[in-house]
Amino acid sequence: MTKMYLVRYSKIFLKSEPVRRRWENALISNIREVLPECRVRRERGRGRIWLEGAVDPEKLKRVFGGVSFSECEYCTLENLNSFSLDFCDEIEIDKARTFAVRVKRVGSHDFTSQQKAAELGDLILNKFKGLEVDLESSEKTIFVEIRNEDCYLFDEVIKGVGGIPLGVEGKLVALFSGGIDSPVAAWLMMKRGCKINPIYFDISPFSDKSMLNRAKRVANILKEYQPDFEIKVVKDTFLERAKEALKSAGIENYTCILCKRHMYRVAECIAKEEGAKGIVTGESLGQVASQTLDNLLVLDDACSLPVYRPLIGFDKVEIERIAQEIGTFDASILPASSCSAVPKKPVTKAKLEKVLEIEKELILVL
Ligand code: ATP
Ligand code: MG
Repeated sequence: MTKMYLVRYSKIFLKSEPVRRRWENALISNIREVLPECRVRRERGRGRIWLEGAVDPEKLKRVFGGVSFSECEYCTLENLNSFSLDFCDEIEIDKARTFAVRVKRVGSHDFTSQQKAAELGDLILNKFKGLEVDLESSEKTIFVEIRNEDCYLFDEVIKGVGGIPLGVEGKLVALFSGGIDSPVAAWLMMKRGCKINPIYFDISPFSDKSMLNRAKRVANILKEYQPDFEIKVVKDTFLERAKEALKSAGIENYTCILCKRHMYRVAECIAKEEGAKGIVTGESLGQVASQTLDNLLVLDDACSLPVYRPLIGFDKVEIERIAQEIGTFDASILPASSCSAVPKKPVTKAKLEKVLEIEKELILVL
């Protein structure tokens, strides 16, 4: 039996021809990247891709743009009737009580799809005694797709990750700490077609290696969705200088907001160097005391590129649920040091004029 995979990507259909081509090409090259051993064939005009050879469904599940897929068996129309019975053997239809046959057809034939479904259904009933047809909620369903003289049979539709093919929207730099939030934020933008360049700020001596190790482990999981998901580690002395200066001035409560503004500035420089069109962060309104509208306003001032915060309106439990679904949760909750530079009461209602004044006075921005 010849096995192959059918990948469906219907939403791409809705786009104009040039956009659709670009999206299809991106989807195909993303599939090739994770499944280099398989042959990829596009079926023009129908929002389908066929894969032949070694296919790892676990990898296929994580390619953005794939809505669903099915492992199929191929036969010619001439052989369809006898082949359908072999297929039923293979899927152990005798273990079920009820079944249905669904036929879809492209091309001109001397039968309708319903007639073919009824014919195959009769053959199956004849061979497998005790089975019953149930068109509403069958235990087993045999899907038959007829394309002119070619037929494809499958019994399972596996859900893909959906979204838009990775890269079609361009690149974003992610502020990636490896906690629960920032990986989910980066992933949500990946799902909308943005390739991510993640950057991690090494804040030692205010944290130890465990935080970096956690970020690396989480990044490894996101590699399953974007194979080159490699964190860039940024290390500078800003936080040490800022902490010292703010302590002397007796305004340590500004540490986090200044540190975050610095991260935004560095992220912007990197984004411009790498041709990224914006920055994505894991901030969510009201989540930790410092994530307030006032503070976000002050943060936005630090960079001229758009800052995307896909988690802004999410509750923590919702974010955790997505983290579980995409597989990052367990790695994100591994014990890791947190930032020891965080003051007792970080400012929650920062005022831009005041922050600009502090940065100028303490010469924290060059
Ligand atoms: P997370 O759960 O993503 O670790 P958080 O809820 O702990 O974030 P903050 O520490 O205020 O919240 O960070 C807010 C956002 O700032 C993070 O989601 C991330 O995008 C960015 N960020 C924080 N620390 C770092 C870091 N060391 N390197 C890179 N980005 C960071
Ligand atoms: Mg958080």
